Amino acid sequence: MKCTGTIDVRDVDESSINIDPIQVGGRLTPDAMKALIAYGDGYSVCDQCRKPFRLDYIRTPPIAQFHRDLASFVNMEIARVVPGARRGFQAVADAFISPGDPVLITALSHYTEVLAIEGRGGVIREIPKTGSNIITSEQAAQKIEEVTREFHRSPTLLFLDHFDYQYGNRHDVAGIIRVAHQYDIPVLYNGAYSVGIMPVDGKKIGADFVVGSGHKSMAAPAPSGMLATTSEWAGRVFRTTGVTTDVTKRTFGIKEIGMMGCTLMGVTLMGMMASFPHVRERVTHWEEELANGRKVVDALMSIEGTLIKSEYPRNHTLTRVDTTGSFDRVAQVHKKRGFFFSSALKGKGIAGIIPGATKVWKFNTYGMTGSQAEYLAAVFRDIARENGLAVTD
Ligand SMILES: *Cc1c(COP(=O)(O)O)cnc(C)c1O
Repeated sequence: MKCTGTIDVRDVDESSINIDPIQVGGRLTPDAMKALIAYGDGYSVCDQCRKPFRLDYIRTPPIAQFHRDLASFVNMEIARVVPGARRGFQAVADAFISPGDPVLITALSHYTEVLAIEGRGGVIREIPKTGSNIITSEQAAQKIEEVTREFHRSPTLLFLDHFDYQYGNRHDVAGIIRVAHQYDIPVLYNGAYSVGIMPVDGKKIGADFVVGSGHKSMAAPAPSGMLATTSEWAGRVFRTTGVTTDVTKRTFGIKEIGMMGCTLMGVTLMGMMASFPHVRERVTHWEEELANGRKVVDALMSIEGTLIKSEYPRNHTLTRVDTTGSFDRVAQVHKKRGFFFSSALKGKGIAGIIPGATKVWKFNTYGMTGSQAEYLAAVFRDIARENGLAVTD
């Protein structure tokens, strides 16, 4: 079926249980879908834009209020919307990093943090992970000492992911930030996999910046996200233009340089705003989400030869699993080879696993009902049994 012309209808989330790690927290609410239709046109939020002509001042629709709500949602002082978490990283990098500055990330950092630093000519240094794929404050302290010796000054910034994209492991952000602050290093808390799906308290964590992803975890269209900070840093990251042009002598009011004036001017912001009441509510159900995840993880662990690569018990719904000793063994002799697994899943209504993957893969149970989680758990066990793998009860 076509949506229009050559574009297919997309019904992954209507026709199946989607477990794609990056998609499940970004799926739109029905309210966001309504907002998309009403605000699809370019610059649609600008109808009522009046002096001082900046997005975060618009009162109708209530965009100004939304900015205040976003800041308090993560318990920070000032917030802006940005086109994706990555643009939040970039805005902070642009405001803080000069060429040659040492900047810390971790061994499990997302590539967009690397690009944001690289774009400024920063020199990247990684805090190593432990054998169990955790970033600890001890490792952070040691790396800060090492980098300080190497550069004769402490790192300019630290980018820290609360839950990493590879394992969905939880890292001791509060402990690491405490250490970083002893060296006066500001810390960007990367909440791409937390803000919008679980409660996040930026102040309690001690973050200087809190970044969230609208399309990953806030039920918003792409590209969308948020960047929040303290009043201490707001003047720097949200600095305003001071230029007077030479020929026309023009000035540009209070446009923010790091935001390129305005950021989300239509469907992305309105989708994010329409979902926000639901998002604010849903973060209070994180424990239920974890319980669903556990059902599925336990089912996988009951299949002989299957290893959970993420920390256990799980603190997140995103999990990395190694089925080299189970489903991949089946793949070696199956007539469909590696595709047997994704095709068996598809046959049972499960979507979101890379076709052909049978060794190390990831899934995310976020947003499922309890019975969908039970069903998914049963599906994994059934596929194992149907292919001659032993399953313990
Ligand atoms: C997905 C992800 C990002 C990028 O988020 P965008 O909103 O797409 O820019 C950054 N960091 C982590 C840890 C992620 O998982």
